[in-house]
Amino acid sequence: MTGIDDLHQRLARVQDRIAAAEQAAGRSPGSVRLLLAAKTVDIATVRDAVHAAAASGGPPPLVGENRVQELVAKAPGLTGLTGGLHLIGPLQSNKVNAALRWAACVQSVASESLAERLHRRCEQDERTLEVLVQVNVSGEPTKHGVHPDRAVELAFAVAGHDRLRLRGLMTVGANSPDEARVRAGYAVLRDLRDRVVDSGEPGTATATELSMGMSRDLEAAVAEVATIVRVGSAVFGARYVPAQDVR
Ligand SMILES: *Cc1c(COP(=O)(O)O)cnc(C)c1O
Repeated sequence: MTGIDDLHQRLARVQDRIAAAEQAAGRSPGSVRLLLAAKTVDIATVRDAVHAAAASGGPPPLVGENRVQELVAKAPGLTGLTGGLHLIGPLQSNKVNAALRWAACVQSVASESLAERLHRRCEQDERTLEVLVQVNVSGEPTKHGVHPDRAVELAFAVAGHDRLRLRGLMTVGANSPDEARVRAGYAVLRDLRDRVVDSGEPGTATATELSMGMSRDLEAAVAEVATIVRVGSAVFGARYVPAQDVR
């Protein structure tokens, strides 16, 4: 069996898992978007996975990179392919310009200063940028993201920047075998998202996305109404660094 067959089988299994989780949660088929977390995966393999996922009927998958350097290196080979390239890892302020050249969406906005910088850069370029606010729902100190207590306030600040389109919230779930604990973290994100959207504050009506759930726990995230699940190793194999917190 070739590597491509393996890839297609793993992808099909992930799609089945998503479909089963949607059904178990009473959600309509196709309500969860797959984001392929492509770190360390070569361009040809990512392209193949995107084509295979799109061919199976649903909306085309998104592609996410968690390092700006890798985003910049691979983006020319990936543009025109997908619903857009998302940055899913932390963004240092000195890499804002590089990230903005390629990212359709930055999912990792966790401070007002970064939001401000992205806004100003977009203003210079006369463009807008989709963003998610990243929240550290588990409180694990190694994890990137704003504390849940400050997340709504940060979301309002982000939404107030007219060059930024706040699309929702993102989190990396607790790294725990305890499914109830993982799911409780996703419920926190869902609740925060509801508070943001229901606030009526300017720019918050579009903040409907919940980007949460990965290879190990996508079922828990779909049960808490994730709209985007970010899957790497379950599709591409375990050979790449699975750590979501590499900085
Ligand atoms: C790598 C990564 C994922 C995917 O993790 P897997 O366990 O490989 O599915 C999701 N989110 C972020 C932020 C990542 O860096």
